[in-house]
Formats: sequence, structure tokens, C-alpha cells
Amino acid sequence: MKAIYGGILTALIASVANAYLPVDDNDFGCITRAKADQYVSDFNINVSSFGGMELCNGNSDTKKLFNDLQMVEEGSFSGGDRNLFIRNIIPTANYFSWLKEQTGSIRRGHDMPTATAYNSFGNFTMQDGWAKLSTLGRVGTLIHEARHTEGYSHTQCRQGPYRDAYLAGCDSSLSQQGSHGVEMEYYSRVVLQGQNFHPVYTQMARLMNLGRANFVFNDNPMAQKDGLIAAGQHELIAVDSDLNTHEHVVGDIGDLRLKRTSFGATLYKGDEAFAVDLYQSEQPLMKDEFSYFKLLLDGRITDVADMQEVDVAGRRYMVALTQRGQLHTYIYAEGRWSAPSSAADVLSLVTTAPDGSEGLFVVSKDGTVYPLNPGNLRKGSALATKWPQGVVDFANWRSQRLAVETTGRVVDLSSGKAYSPLEGYQVQQLVRAPYYNAFGFEQ
Ligand SMILES: [Zn+2]
Repeated sequence: MKAIYGGILTALIASVANAYLPVDDNDFGCITRAKADQYVSDFNINVSSFGGMELCNGNSDTKKLFNDLQMVEEGSFSGGDRNLFIRNIIPTANYFSWLKEQTGSIRRGHDMPTATAYNSFGNFTMQDGWAKLSTLGRVGTLIHEARHTEGYSHTQCRQGPYRDAYLAGCDSSLSQQGSHGVEMEYYSRVVLQGQNFHPVYTQMARLMNLGRANFVFNDNPMAQKDGLIAAGQHELIAVDSDLNTHEHVVGDIGDLRLKRTSFGATLYKGDEAFAVDLYQSEQPLMKDEFSYFKLLLDGRITDVADMQEVDVAGRRYMVALTQRGQLHTYIYAEGRWSAPSSAADVLSLVTTAPDGSEGLFVVSKDGTVYPLNPGNLRKGSALATKWPQGVVDFANWRSQRLAVETTGRVVDLSSGKAYSPLEGYQVQQLVRAPYYNAFGFEQ
């Protein structure tokens, strides 16, 4: 009986799974030769530059491109749910025909390592960065590049990681309806109107949408509101601006460290980072390819002990501390990590100091806290207040200064009393993290 029940259950799960398009490249199965030939001819694909014809192996770049095109051709949308990014720039039924129309040819190249892909008069060259992305990121890239063929180009960024960089990478606004706008519209439609996308692909689309839209438009179209996020052993507890709490079941948090990121929050440890979706109550841990913790994915920096993504004066920085006691900052304009700066006595990187000041700080092994310039990695003079024993995190929230004690209690530092919205929870970590109105501020 048990076996039969199990069999039915497996069949049921399989049939549900089959209703969705795959997410992982190795779950797509083989493509027919006829279909592959059709894609090659429709998009004028230079197959040899992708490593030759491949119908089955999801690790080959050729098959990855076929998977992307299949996602565009078979993805379906319906329903009237909208958000600020959905402006019907590309009609939902036309994605595939529109992409075909805007693509002169597609080849694989290694000539512009700082770019994911580039478009020269309708001819796309996909770079190493494209090959490393998930299906979602790669499909977003193709849609983005296709819009360039229609004459939309970028302007210099006035904020974020590429602020003042020589390479123009931003759109002036969403209403310009350029490449970033069309890309964001696709992500938002997957989330709000998608019919046959896997829940994981949908979740990735939401995080990618938030992770990019917060810096690629010089005129930011989204409104942002901070929430307070506490981590227990197995769940995250979000406190909204009305002081209501919302629980998110995450699985085993263990010694993963909760970090604020541009899209919300990330759980980080060593060379791995997992994105937190603050808009969904239950979630699998998925690799963070949405904030600049994604720099861990390319393996150019390893043996990392701590990391912080931080915005200071309209610029975004990513700073890493290695196990060898060296600090690096990422130089976005050049697409590389800085030379190391010695930090042998540094234990961790924090964004809120014990005195409540915010920015980037290093905590040394004896508890001394120093401000750190995230651009040149120079330490300022030591703060008067050392990191107190028994405190894990400090966070500023709605004009209150809070601290998490190693006992699991969150304390309001002005009164010395337990912070009531989080009373009864065994809290181990605390950050303030951004929510955006693109998908509702809170659930
Ligand atoms: Zn572009």
C-alpha cells in the first residue's frame, strides 16, 4: 500500500514538474536536430564559436543558448497583474518573434571581459559573463541586447557601482523604455503574469528585477522602504514599518551570516552566498547572483572570511576580507578586485558600529572598531567605543538603536529593555534591509 501511495505521489510530483519549463541547464533534456537547426538559422548562430553543435549536454555553451531560446519561445504569460515595470513595451505574445527580428547574428567571444554581452549593429557577442549566468540571467541578457538593435543605447551612471565609470551602463529613466526597461519588464512579467515558469525561475526573476532595477536607472523608478530583519536558527523574522512581524522559513541557517544587500538580504558564509526573498514566506536557499555577492560565483576571489555590499554617498562598494587577513575592494569600472591591503588583525566587516554610526567598519581582534574607506581600504582612527562582549549585531531602526545579545535577546539600547516586536524570538542576527514597491513593500 505504502509503495503504491509513494508511486502515485511521485507521479503527481512529476506531472506538476512537467507543467513548468525547466530552470537548470541539465534539466532541459535533448533538443531535436530539426529544432536546433531552426534556431541556428533563425538567429544566424555561429555554432563553432560556441564550441560546436550540441543537442543534449547542458554544460555546453551551444546548448545553453538553445535553452535560452526555448525559454523565450515557450514561456507564456497571461493575466492583468501589473507593476511599475510592466508597460507593454514588447507585447507578451511577441517575445520570440521580436527577439528574432532584432538579432542579426549571435556569436560567442572573449573580447570584452567586463561586459556580459555586446551588440554591434544587431550582431550579438556573448561573453564569458553570459555563459556563467543562470538561464534567467541569460534570457534577460538576450532581451536586453535585442532592445539595443532598436537604437536604444546607455548613458553614464549617476549612482551605484558604475557611477562615473567611463563605460556608459545606465538608462536615464524607466520611461525611456530602453534595454534595462525591457529587461525589467520581462522579469516582472515572469513574476506577475507567468503561466508556465518554474517557481524557482519566478523567484529568481523577482530578485534579479530588484537587484538590477535599484541602480541601472539614473532616475530610480522604485520606492524603497526599510524593514528590520532578524535571523533565528531556522527562520527569518521581518519587522515592517507598522511593527508587524512576518516569518520566513528558510531551512537551516546555522552559521550563515545575515547581510543587507541591494535587493534585500543574503545569507553568507565563506565562498558562498544565498539570496533571501523577502516577498515569499517559504523558500529554498538559492545562490545569490543578484547582489554583488555574485562576485563569489566566478572563483576569482576565494578563501573569503567576510564580505559587505555597501552604498556610501551614492556609490556601491563590495569589500572582501580573506582568511589570509587581506582586504580587497571590487573595481567595477575595470571588472577586477583591487590589490590586497593588509588587515591581519581584522576579525570582521560591519556596517553599523557600536555607537550607531553607519558605513563600513572593521572590527579588530581586540574589539577596536575602525571606519574603513571602502574605495581605497584606508582605516580611519579608532572609534571611542569598542565592540562589546556579548553583542552580535547592532542595527538602527526607526530612530531606535538596537543590539542582539549572544543570549538571543534584542535590546533597545536607549531603554535597556527587550525590543517588544521581537520578544519571544531567539534572535541570532539583525540587519535593516530594503523592500521595494515593485512587488509590494511587505506581504
Ligand atoms: Zn546594454
